[in-house]
Parts: sequence; structure tokens; C-alpha cells
Amino acid sequence: MKDDNSPANGEEPPSDHRLQLLKEFHSAGRGFWRDVSDADWNNWRWQLKHRITTPEQLQRLMPTLTPEEFAGAKLANTKLALAITPYFFNLIDPADERCPIRRQVIPRIEETRAAPWEMSDPCGEDSHSPVPGLVHRYPDRVLFLVTDRCAAYCRYCTRSRLVSNASGYDFHPEFDKQIEYIARHPEIRDVLLSGGDPLLLSDDKLENLLGRLRAIPHVEFLRIGSRIPTFLPQRITPELCAMLKKFHPLFMSIHSNHPRELTTEVRDATGCLADAGIPLGNQSVLLKHVNDDATVMKALVQKLLMCRVKPYYLYQCDLISGSAHLRASVRKGIAIMAQLRGHTTGYAVPQYVIDAPGGGGKVPINPDYILSRNADRVLLRNYEGKIFEYPEAPDGTPLSSPPEEIVEPELV
Ligand code: SF4
Repeated sequence: MKDDNSPANGEEPPSDHRLQLLKEFHSAGRGFWRDVSDADWNNWRWQLKHRITTPEQLQRLMPTLTPEEFAGAKLANTKLALAITPYFFNLIDPADERCPIRRQVIPRIEETRAAPWEMSDPCGEDSHSPVPGLVHRYPDRVLFLVTDRCAAYCRYCTRSRLVSNASGYDFHPEFDKQIEYIARHPEIRDVLLSGGDPLLLSDDKLENLLGRLRAIPHVEFLRIGSRIPTFLPQRITPELCAMLKKFHPLFMSIHSNHPRELTTEVRDATGCLADAGIPLGNQSVLLKHVNDDATVMKALVQKLLMCRVKPYYLYQCDLISGSAHLRASVRKGIAIMAQLRGHTTGYAVPQYVIDAPGGGGKVPINPDYILSRNADRVLLRNYEGKIFEYPEAPDGTPLSSPPEEIVEPELV
């Protein structure tokens, strides 16, 4: 597949042309699976059954696998399993070692090199877990881990200690205990189902779980976090959407990092969820050589809106063990945010956050728009770098007399 991120002549096209190329919708196509029937290809269980899970399969399908990737794939099943759906595999450009899709799902040997400041549980979830499979870190909401399985595995996964069970974490959620804990805590008004991927449960199991949570009177709001719409859009069936719409208010956070992940198949899947009245947000992780580029990020957020998905969070990559080769700098993240805010639709601008290492929760990170505060004004910078003054006393009350010398806006 041609990488629309890197033109054939090796030169960067002008950025608005590149932006338009990145925003085009394409189907993932059939690739090696062109002889498979439509019924099988569009069946999510068939996709799961035919995932690429071994280094040998990967090398057979992709002879351009590098020694670093092959070595990483051989060791993956001792850390975080290798699994890629045939659908998602078709988005990889085998001719491009730096393909942004490839970097997200194909292991590399660098994953085995951990720095001293990297952690297996960078968000401190285990220390905030009152019962197995439940994380209660913020006062009014909980994270409900449903399964340790995903349709495919992201090489930067924050929960790689437990998802896929490759490192022997032995994750066993206990739904009865998780639900009982929520029922006993009236302060919990918001439950986020995550994992692993909750949409790997059958419709019946998921319906049963959502029904039990919905029956708790103080649970106001349900959320599902899922990468299935991008790894396995075939799972988003009309039957699933019809079932989910019984449990409103129900929101869903999907996960995509690069505009090429947003195919016509994904657009159909998110359209089906949106038609069921499910508000959709997207979570992205800032990743080196994947989306640490203002044009790529702009294409992603604008394309998400076309898929009826609000870009919600952009995460600084957590300090997960063996992820240094995928982490972009905070400085880069701030520079990208400065290229979005004011330069595109406000709805398209996600909140950039760092999940404070060790369990401090999400800290919003923004470019500096307040330059100073003094006795009678706040000095502001807008997205173009122009400076403005907002008259206000230090305690926030309106001024009784005009501040001295309001300067005209000027360009810095
Ligand atoms: S889908 Fe989510 S939980 Fe699963 S590997 Fe990717 S980031 Fe981790």
C-alpha cells in the first residue's frame, strides 16, 4: 500500500496538499485475503480467528520485516503478545520501515530495553484497585476492567503488564465483586468499561453487564473505551448498536493515532454507533514517527470529525517499560497543540495531557497563552502570537477605574 505520508519522489509535498492526501478515505482492501468470501471477511469472529500472531506468519506475509522487528516479534509473547487482525494488517506499508501503522503493532527488539524511570504500571492503577479489575482513583468514577484481551496489541500499551497475559499477570476480573463495590459506593456516578477491549465480549455478555450496571441507581453515566472500531470495525454490527442504545447515557471513546487508520470501514462503523445516539470521542497517544507531526495530527483530528468523532484526549506516551523508541517529547506535543488551537475548528482540538507518573491523574498541558498577570491586567497571547490585555484586579474583580496605558494589540 502506498504511504500517503511519504511521497514517491521522496520530497515533502506542500503541507496543505499533504493534509488533503492524508484526509482521503480509503478501504483497507483485501490484500493477501482476496480469496476469502465477503461473509467471512466481514465477520468479526473470522477476523479474530485469522489474526497474525507468530513471527513466522508475520515474516511470510511481510518479507521486508527487519531484524529488529523479527527479534521483537520472537520475544513479544514473553511481554505483550503479537496479534494483528488481517483487516488492520492491510493498512501497513511493507515497503516503508517507518510506516506509522507498522510502528504501532509490530514489535521491535527495543521493547526489551527498559530505562530505570520506566514502569510496568506507570499510572499506578494496581495501587488504586479495591477489588480485582476495578480502579478507583478519582472520587466519582471508576475504571471497570472487563477483559485482558484485545483485537490487536499496541506496542506502547499502558496496561501491557496485564493485557494479553504474556507476562503472567494472571488477570481475573470478578464482575460480581466489581459490581457489588460500585453498588456500595454511592459517590460513583460514572463507570468506564475498559480492559483489554470490552467489545470483545459477545453481545449477550455485554448486555448483561451493562444491564447490571444500569440497575444501580447512582450510576448516572456509562462509558466504553475501545480500539475495536479501528482494529476490527467488522465488530460494529447493527445488532451491537441496537443493543448498546438501550443503555443511554452511554458514551464511547475510540482510539486512533494516525489518519490512515480512519478508513471507509471505520467511518461506516462510527456512523453506525453515532446513529445509535452514542457520543463518540477519540483518544490518541503522541508517538514518535507516527503522529508527532502537526500536519498528520491536523489531518487526524479533522478526519475524526468527518467520522462523527470528537478528538478528546491526546496523551503523552506513558513511561511504560521499553517504550522509549515510541515516545515523542513534551516539547513536540506542545508545539503540535499550538498548531491546532486557533488553526482549526475548536471541536477538532483535543486536550493534551500527561497522566502523572505513579498515579497522579491527568494533568492538562497547554501552550502558554497567559504571558503574565499584574495589578490591573492579564496579558494574553493569541494563536497568531498577538498580545492582548484583559483588564482585571488581582483578586478577579472588575476594575473600578481603567488600567493605565492599554497598549494596542501588537505582533510578538
Ligand atoms: S487496544 Fe488499548 S488495551 Fe489493547 S493493547 Fe491497545 S492500548 Fe492496550
